[in-house]
Amino acid sequence: MDCLQVRRVLLLYIYQEKLSEEDMELVESHLCNCPCCNRELDSLRETIRLINRVELRFPPSEELKARIYNRIESNGWFEQSI
Ligand SMILES: [Zn+2]
Repeated sequence: MDCLQVRRVLLLYIYQEKLSEEDMELVESHLCNCPCCNRELDSLRETIRLINRVELRFPPSEELKARIYNRIESNGWFEQSI
């Protein structure tokens, strides 16, 4: 996997869903060798942590959550930071 591929599946990797075991391993082995993607992983985790914290106080609808995640992706978050 290259950086672009890893970043496209990073959210799935964090949630450990919809990724095959094989893909999980590919992502993990890439992360071992790529500080750049590691930083990306950290900042995604941080974003999710913030979203979750807001959620505790103002539980958002499923729709709002979907919009937030869409926004993360459609912002070119992944492509921009390479
Ligand atoms: Zn990378």
